[in-house]
Amino acid sequence: MILSSQTFYNNDVMKAYDLAVVGFHRAYAPYSKFRVGAAVKIKNSTEIIFGCNVENISLGATICAERNAINQALVRINVDTKAVPSGSLYDSKMKPIEIEFVVVVADTETPTMPCGMCLQCLNEFSTGKTNIIVANLEKIFGTVTLEQLLPAPYINI
Ligand SMILES: [Zn+2]
Repeated sequence: MILSSQTFYNNDVMKAYDLAVVGFHRAYAPYSKFRVGAAVKIKNSTEIIFGCNVENISLGATICAERNAINQALVRINVDTKAVPSGSLYDSKMKPIEIEFVVVVADTETPTMPCGMCLQCLNEFSTGKTNIIVANLEKIFGTVTLEQLLPAPYINI
């Protein structure tokens, strides 16, 4: 992964970065103190939807910023989409959203990668070529594709 400044990225990425930073500041991380924000750009839409990590005292109920953003995107896009009346009608080939890219922001010297669980969840609504753009608060960016981080996703159900 090559790290670079923000000048390399287009307006959508920078808008997503700004929203991911908002998510970072809204993170609920009283146990780890490790805050993360994420924003997903939805393909064929102007929507960029962000989320933050939300920890829980049970730890297992904690959700990462990336999955929070994906879940919010599903809810919000469905409200605006007349073509798919009910989530229960989806099958494995009919995806309500396709993620164009995701931006992940954490306060680390080297940008933080999504965890394995989030990669598998990103895979549900992305392709292997989907860009995962990681950044820190100093606007140091890196870009990898989903298939670089998750070359063999679970798909056998
Ligand atoms: Zn995660």
